[in-house]
Amino acid sequence: MGEIVGSKSGISSKNEYLVPDYYKYFSCKGKECRYTCCSGWKVTIPMNEYFKLHGITCNKKLRENIDRTFRTLPDFTPERYAEIIHNSFGECPLLLANGYCNLHSQLGEEVLPSVCRYYPRGPKVDYAFECSTTNSCERTLELLFETDDLISFEKRRIELKIPLSLGKVKADEKLIYESVRTFVFKILQDRTVSLPDRILKIGKVILELDGDIHTNLLEIDLSILPITKDIPYVYQIMENVASWFIEKNPNISPFFSDILSYLENKPIEEAYLEIEQHLSEVLPNHEIMFEKMLMNNLFFRQFPFQEFTSNFEEEFVYLCGAYLFTRYLSLGYMRDKSSIDDFVDIMARSFRVIAHFRFERNIFQLLKLQNAISYESLAKLIQI
Ligand code: SF4
Repeated sequence: MGEIVGSKSGISSKNEYLVPDYYKYFSCKGKECRYTCCSGWKVTIPMNEYFKLHGITCNKKLRENIDRTFRTLPDFTPERYAEIIHNSFGECPLLLANGYCNLHSQLGEEVLPSVCRYYPRGPKVDYAFECSTTNSCERTLELLFETDDLISFEKRRIELKIPLSLGKVKADEKLIYESVRTFVFKILQDRTVSLPDRILKIGKVILELDGDIHTNLLEIDLSILPITKDIPYVYQIMENVASWFIEKNPNISPFFSDILSYLENKPIEEAYLEIEQHLSEVLPNHEIMFEKMLMNNLFFRQFPFQEFTSNFEEEFVYLCGAYLFTRYLSLGYMRDKSSIDDFVDIMARSFRVIAHFRFERNIFQLLKLQNAISYESLAKLIQI
């Protein structure tokens, strides 16, 4: 059982969290980070944290630095009250030359807005006490790729200051959460089956649960029929999807538009064979790397119970969409690159898009517009 200690800024709780094996080794790379998370991304903070920052006692210079960093949003709500105004380099004005945060180094972790305090960690306390770090952080990906071992999980006692939602989720819902996740994660890590087939098996499980959440998991038919690759179909759909995300996110545009122009200028099947072969040569274990990224992402996002989707069908579309999006962009980006750092860079960027731009809702709508959300269509798409 955890200890819960009330405090002025929230509730401090010291609990046993379920964490992935790499978690204990995580520490931020600071100035060594190639694409720091303090750069280029819209970050908002809630009203109570905004006023807390404006009321803290500090020296005049830091006060001015804080005032330059946050501005209230015109359409503010209590949850999204103010945003960080990036400087001309696209960086948070509180970012120091050594890669650390001015606020943190002068006043300690306590005063940081929660988004800055915990990123890239994602503590969860409703269905279960769980914590992991997000794939949008390059250090996380580096840790994931250090070995080809399956990700395992362990309990660690961690102190985090977050509001607890005690009683919000009922005991029987927690049991279902745990049994479904254990079942689908076992499927995802079954390396005797190809990764696209594992994704389809998970789809079969959760689509069945959409009909009846109490379905006996062991009785679900997990057979997968052979599916023929249809690369022109995949690329026609993905070009529209990727273009939409690029248009909405100007700061990733230079990074991704190059991929689109390359693919436009070659017969698609020929281009695909070339880039797929190249990826297999430079990263022979890429299927394992995708498996580990998906495992970490699904664990982090409480799949298939994440709050941003309405049902398990949307969860399945999210899973296929995340795989498709990251695979499509990595194949294109890696075509003339060969280092693991390059792969980490494109994947961290892709997962930032997934994390910051309501990916689950948008991918569902984008694929729906192209009549591509049926099980059969998704099965064809993920053969990329
Ligand atoms: S992306 Fe990760 S390693 Fe890089 S600055 Fe952010 S937390 Fe640190």
